[in-house]
Parts: sequence; C-alpha cells; structure tokens
Amino acid sequence: MKIIIHGGFFSESDQSHEVKVSKQNSLQAIAKKSFEFLKNHSAVETVVYAVTLLEDDELYNAGTGSQIQSDGKIRMSASLMNGETQKFSGVINIENVKNPINIAQILMKEDDRVLGGNGAKKYASENGFTEFSTEIPQRRKEYEEKLKNGGKGTVGCVALDSNGKLAAATSTGGKGFEIVGRISDSATVAGNYANEYCAVSCTGVGEDIVSNATAAKIVVRVTDGLPLKEAVERTFKELKEINGFAGAIAIDKHGNIAHQDSHPTMVFTSFDGENFDIFN
Ligand code: ASP
Repeated sequence: MKIIIHGGFFSESDQSHEVKVSKQNSLQAIAKKSFEFLKNHSAVETVVYAVTLLEDDELYNAGTGSQIQSDGKIRMSASLMNGETQKFSGVINIENVKNPINIAQILMKEDDRVLGGNGAKKYASENGFTEFSTEIPQRRKEYEEKLKNGGKGTVGCVALDSNGKLAAATSTGGKGFEIVGRISDSATVAGNYANEYCAVSCTGVGEDIVSNATAAKIVVRVTDGLPLKEAVERTFKELKEINGFAGAIAIDKHGNIAHQDSHPTMVFTSFDGENFDIFN
C-alpha cells in the first residue's frame, strides 16, 4: 500500500514561510490519516477521502479556499479515475458545493460521467448536495486587491491499495481571475489519469498540462513498459520544450512513487505506513 498527495505549488513570492510550514504539516497529517483509511478501503475510495480532506482545508485552492474567477464567482473542477475499471468521472466549473470530488465520485455510476457548470450543480442538488459557499475572506481580499496567485494550491492524491489496484483524484479552484468558461486540466485525462499500471495527478498551468497531455502520457509510457521514473522524466522533458509549468505525482503497480515539477516549489507528501517523503 502506498499513498502520495499534493497541495499544488508553493510560491515564496506570494506566500509566507508560515503558510509553507502549515501546508507541510497539513499534508503530513492528511497523508497519515488517508493511509490509515487505505488499510480498510480501496484505492478509489481512499483517493476520494484524501481529496475531501484537502478540499476542506482552506490552505489549498480546492473546495473551501478556492480562488475567485474574473467575474467574482468561484467555479471548481474535480475528477476521479479508477485504474481497475479504467473509468473517469468529473465535474467542471461547479459552483457552491462543499466537496466537488464527492460529486465526481457519485457520477461514477452514471453513463454520463463528466458534467459541467449548471448541469453539474443541478445533478449535485438532485443527489442531496446542499448549497455551500467555499469562499474564504482571504481569497476575496486577494480578488479585490487583484493579487494573482496563479492557481497555486490545487490538490491531488494517487494510491495503491492492498489488492494492487490504483486510483487518482484531483480537485481545483482553477487559476484565479480566469475568463468565465475556462476549463482547467484537473477534470481532464491530462491532469488526472490511471489504469492498472500507473496513476497520476497533476498541478500547474492547466493549458500547459493539457498541451503536454501530462498524466495520460506518463500512464501510457508506463503501460508500454517504460520504468516510472523514466516515463515521468521524458514527459517533463517534453513539457520543458513548450516552456510548461507543471508538477505531477505518480505511483506504479509495483508501488514505485515519483514526483516531478518543472519549477521546484511543489508541495507533496508520500507515506508508506512508516516513512514520509516530503518535498518543499
Ligand atoms: N491546474 C490548475 C488549473 O490550471 C491550477 C493548478 O494546478 O494550480 O486550473
């Protein structure tokens, strides 16, 4: 069993040292709690659980604490991929729900598994998700002061369970100040992808991640026999060719873990029941 989670990028220029330390502590606590959960749950249940904890922590740009778009509204996106069934589900630009990943989770049972905007919200309401504002005063202040944080703080989790199954989940409040209707990578296969060989969750500039097809490419390379580390490195070499800004966490079916970022300020933690691997 293995788990790795990320809390997006950290920027020294727009966040304090205290925020950085808080993020590291929060990631450690959530990785540990999620690993305990993984002992009695599947990979797909665990990645959802971990991402709900991350969405509920206002340090991150996902769920509570999400960034505000150019028109003053918050729209969130989240997706889930079950490596065993190879099914993907997600919500794009959903408003006023507490945990977007939980809506992606219940969409798994539908034929129509990726819903956007008002349709996603209507589906959530019909399925018992009550109105919830994820806005926090800090984000409103940043919005009013036109402080562009660049979407730092998207969250994600990949896990390998005791039956050798893999899953990935990712959730975001987007880039902040985006044109209404802009679609993040987080609910696409470029930002979140898994199969029986590998699971990947990304963060960074959505446009770069989509252009590079980051998560899907890493998974396909591992599926075709490339070792995980090389699959990640080759994909990031290609990202560099387009001057892309992104980070990824990954696990393969053997329990190898990888993380890479184009600019080394990503915050992540992996946990295997005994040891933490913490970066940034
Ligand atoms: N990937 C997210 C987006 O572009 C933002 C982020 O990961 O920081 O919407």
